[in-house]
Parts: sequence; structure tokens; C-alpha cells
Amino acid sequence: MRQIIIIGSGPAGYTAAIYAARANLRPLVIASSVEAGGELMNTTDVENFPGFPEGIQGPELMMKMQEQAERFGAEVVYDDVVRLELEGAVKTVTLGSGESHEALAVIVATGSAYRKLGLADEERLSGHGVSWCATCDGFFFKNKTIAVVGGGDSAMEEATFLTRFASKVYVIHRKDTLRASKIMQERAFANDKIEFVWNAEVSGITGDDAVDGVRLRNTVSGDQSTLELGGLFVAIGNDPRTHLVHKQLALTPEGTIAVQGRSSRTTVAGVFAAGDVVDPTYRQAVTAAASGTVAALDAEHYLTSLPQDLLAQASEPELATVTE
Ligand code: NDP
Repeated sequence: MRQIIIIGSGPAGYTAAIYAARANLRPLVIASSVEAGGELMNTTDVENFPGFPEGIQGPELMMKMQEQAERFGAEVVYDDVVRLELEGAVKTVTLGSGESHEALAVIVATGSAYRKLGLADEERLSGHGVSWCATCDGFFFKNKTIAVVGGGDSAMEEATFLTRFASKVYVIHRKDTLRASKIMQERAFANDKIEFVWNAEVSGITGDDAVDGVRLRNTVSGDQSTLELGGLFVAIGNDPRTHLVHKQLALTPEGTIAVQGRSSRTTVAGVFAAGDVVDPTYRQAVTAAASGTVAALDAEHYLTSLPQDLLAQASEPELATVTE
């Protein structure tokens, strides 16, 4: 049995792992089989993570976080959690491989998943012109006319990035003002290859074997129109990934895991949550990292409160005192 298992390997998961490892808790990080490193693995330049004045590539930042956690003794497993049993003092984490791990504390840092438009043809044409990741798929759209749906930072970032490949990029947004930060908006406005389609909702995606266009509905007038496209990128935000804890942990009305006050304590003792899965508002790499710190410290304090005989059953080294 472990003292602590961390589920997720984004900035929250790895920062929690760094703190837990430095407290000699030898955390086990379940990093996922295909999404290890979290969302920053799909990002190019990260310009707002303090300490990197020239910016850093998302995947490189995540590699460094992992290295830092491993340096202090964190172990990383590339597998997916398929089942969690959180009640009681001993928690069980079951992986896709069938392997089970027990721990006295669990930190859930499962992040969020791309939001979908919810259209019938979206799934069918996924991988055939519909994508959620410009850095993954942008290369396939060389010299094509494509569109990005959304009005936030993700949409601006994706649209700007995609102009490296595409001949033209429409940004389709359901309002006439953007949610994106000023700097990202200005970058997109200044780009000749980007054209905005305001007050428009994608009501259908067309194409037999691959995307050839979209149907649009004007959100003000209700008018219908079509737009010919060679590809469609959906960048309309993310939803917290909570499927593993449904019916075990309380959720907020926004769908994030409910935590007590500014802590990471969930409604089940010994279970902590951090990062995008608890944050409907800020959702930055640096706020996720900070939230991972809170979770590791809360978990440490929780572990010190457990009876010695229970702690003795955890095979890993004794609890160290909390070090800042
Ligand atoms: P946001 O939630 O900020 O924006 C989502 C956008 O998609 C909004 O404009 C929203 O419209 C629109 N939208 C949502 N649902 C639908 C729908 N069903 N149909 C059509 N449009 C829809 O998500 P982001 O992913 O852009 O950003 C998430 C967080 O990550 C933010 O905090 C952001 O700052 C951060 N981020 C930072 C980056 C950076 O600094 N480099 C890069 C990328 C993200 P509406 O405005 O009408 O609600």
C-alpha cells in the first residue's frame, strides 16, 4: 500500500507530486496512457508561466515538471484509471492494465476534456477534418480554408497557429465580442489570414468522407447560411473530467469537484482534488500548479492525522515533517 496516489499528470498533478515527493511520501503518479502531460502537451509557446521570460514550449515545460517530481522520488505509471474506490481509510485505484493500487490518500488532478459542439456529424467526421487540437493536426491542413469555432484564448491561439499552414482561417463565434484576453485578440485581429464570422453558430457539419463545409445560423437574425471549408477546429473550452468520481464525490453546479473553502479537501476524507477539475474560472497552468501544491500539503496534513498502525501498513518511507 502507498501513502499517496496522484491521478493526472498536468501542472496540478506534477506539482502535487513534487511536493509529496519532497515530503518523502514517494507518490505514485498515474499519468494516463495517451494524454500524459495534460493539455499543455497540445500547446506551443507558453508565454505566461513565470520563470521563462522567453517562453517555453508546452511539452518541454511538462517534461521538466515530470523530471523535477521524479528527481525527488515520484514514480510515474503511463496507464488510465478505470475505477476508483474512495470510501474508507484505504483507497483503491484500478488501472486499465487490471492492476490495482491501494493508498491512504488520493489526489484527483484529472483536468478537463475538450468540449464538443454536440452535432451529429461531429463524431462521424472527427479525424476527417474535425479536430480539437491545432498543434496535433494543423499540418494536415496546408493551403486549405478552415475554421475555428470559439471566442476564447484557445480559439485565438489555435486560429493564429493554424495560419502557418492554412491559406485562410475563419473564426466562427456566437457573439460579436470575444472572451479571449486582449493580447490574444489583437494578435488574431492583426493576422491577414484570419477573418471573423460574428454572431454565428455552427448548426451542421457537411461532407461525406471528409469535412467540406458547415451550416451556420445567425444568432441574432436566425438566418441560415453555409461556408465551404476543408477543416473545422473546435475550441470552445473544456469540461472537468469527473467521470471517475461520479456518485463518490460531490460536484459543484459548474460540474467541478466540490472542495472545502480554499482547501483541496473533497467530501470524502483522504481524497483531495486539484487543477482544472476543481476550477471553473481561472484554469491557467500556473493556477493549476498552485492548486497541486495545496492538495499535496492537505494530503500531508491528513496523513499525519492517521493512526500509526494504518500508516505502518503503507509500504513507503515514514512521513517526513512538512517542508516548505
Ligand atoms: P473559454 O471558456 O475561455 O472560451 C470558450 C469559448 O467558446 C467562448 O468564447 C464561448 O462563447 C465559446 N463556446 C462555448 N461553448 C460553445 C458552444 N457550444 N458553441 C459555440 N461556442 C461556444 O475556453 P478556452 O479554452 O478558450 O480557455 C480556457 C482557459 O484557458 C481560459 O482561462 C484561458 O484564458 C486559458 N487559455 C490561455 C491561453 C494562453 O494564455 N496562452 C491559451 C488557451 C487557453 P461565449 O464567449 O459566448 O461564452
